[in-house]
Amino acid sequence: MKHISLLGLPLMLACGASPPPSTSPSTSTSASPSTSPSTSASPSTSASTSPSTSRSTSPLTPLELAALSSTRSADIARSIAEEVGPRLAGSPGDKLAVAWALRTMTSLGFRNVHAEPVTVPVWRRGTETAEIISPVHLPLAVTALGWSGSTGKKGVTGEVVEVISLDALKSLTKDQAKGKIIFGNVLMRKAADGAGYGEAVPMRFAGPKLAMDLGALAFVMRTVGTAEDRNPHTGSCGLRDVKNPIAAGALSTVDAELLHDTLARDPKTKISLVLTPTRAPDAQSANVVGDMPGDTHPDEIVLLGAHLDSWDLARGAIDDGAGDAIVLEAAKLVAEHGEPHRTVRVVLFAAEENSGAGGKAYVAAHTNEIGKHVLALEADSGTARVISSRFFGDPSQKAVYDVLTVMLKPLRVEAREGDGHPGSDITPLVGAGVPTVELRQDMSRYFDVHHSANDTQSEIDLEGIRQATAAFADAAWLAASGGDFGRAPPMKDEHW
Ligand SMILES: [Zn+2]
Repeated sequence: MKHISLLGLPLMLACGASPPPSTSPSTSTSASPSTSPSTSASPSTSASTSPSTSRSTSPLTPLELAALSSTRSADIARSIAEEVGPRLAGSPGDKLAVAWALRTMTSLGFRNVHAEPVTVPVWRRGTETAEIISPVHLPLAVTALGWSGSTGKKGVTGEVVEVISLDALKSLTKDQAKGKIIFGNVLMRKAADGAGYGEAVPMRFAGPKLAMDLGALAFVMRTVGTAEDRNPHTGSCGLRDVKNPIAAGALSTVDAELLHDTLARDPKTKISLVLTPTRAPDAQSANVVGDMPGDTHPDEIVLLGAHLDSWDLARGAIDDGAGDAIVLEAAKLVAEHGEPHRTVRVVLFAAEENSGAGGKAYVAAHTNEIGKHVLALEADSGTARVISSRFFGDPSQKAVYDVLTVMLKPLRVEAREGDGHPGSDITPLVGAGVPTVELRQDMSRYFDVHHSANDTQSEIDLEGIRQATAAFADAAWLAASGGDFGRAPPMKDEHW
């Protein structure tokens, strides 16, 4: 038996056992004056409302069963996609999103619902066309990367130099690149853990600036995406703080293949490219915050985060409407079934996609209570089920995380070791010492959709989002009941 403490009360867990409600973490009702004497912290307290929650037949807790049978998370994801749609930071859609979040949190019963101002940088898409003009005429599906410069209305025309890796781009000489259009053609592989993104995305971040420094006329790349279709995926590139940046675009996977094949036949292949995005002065957006207050320790906070903005090409059902829905519904379920001692706070962050301004603004606005944040979790990996968990907290408090892994077993979530990422909005919090658990979702299909016109409400996976909501609710419940994950150790970069 392991003994851990929930808000000063003893908690005993048979390690390795599958945790039916009767063995799930529960607090004694007898001891601490600081804990409501009339309640158990177990999420099984509302069990009598559902006939399917019999302790003798189900290994799932009532909290998990409620998540697995509800359509509410899928409905919330659909709602933001339908009622708001594209919502890039600083756009009219962004304002609609803030209003949606205030309205939705209020209607779900959150308290202290409010918008916290965030200043966001503004970039707007313009015209975008591309065409192979020699040795044949073929249109190419292209979209500008976030923070791309403009070609001007007349566009640019040039020979294409293809590179298949960032190293190959770095090894080009100025003579090879000057006046040419660089084509970064990195294949992206599908992987359930999303690892293909980490391999492909450095070309998007670093490629445009490297090409610019080599004197290239413009930059195009094979889209960071895994669908074999003609919808290119956008995403930020590393030109935000660069003066007079070159134009940088993504070609759909199919069109990148077309350009590659044409170059294989004719190394003097030429394309024309028109991308006319613009920048505008900084605008005001907001992080939207709402609380499900704890009963005995309301000043201690379990933070569930997701981002409210989306790219402009997408309706943002998946990135990150699904994350918004998962954390909103998880917090509501903990309040309904778990009687949290600590406050479960949802933060829907501004401007994750184009700057990360929302995550930084939250930490700046809450400096005085960072030490009261006992756990932060982020949902920003789509609509599929959670497949694994990783702990990033105080190693001496790992027994608390072990409780969570036992709770998650009936949901078929594996405990994993190794490198992880906390989620970009909560990275500043984790950097300030707030522990986290990464609940990694199955990302096999995620990059078919992410940052592209494919991100619509038809992609919502009902069974997946239900299970993910259950997993986030379990983690939130454990921390809200008093599970102490300690403080996070220093991160290396944005990973651990
Ligand atoms: Zn996202």
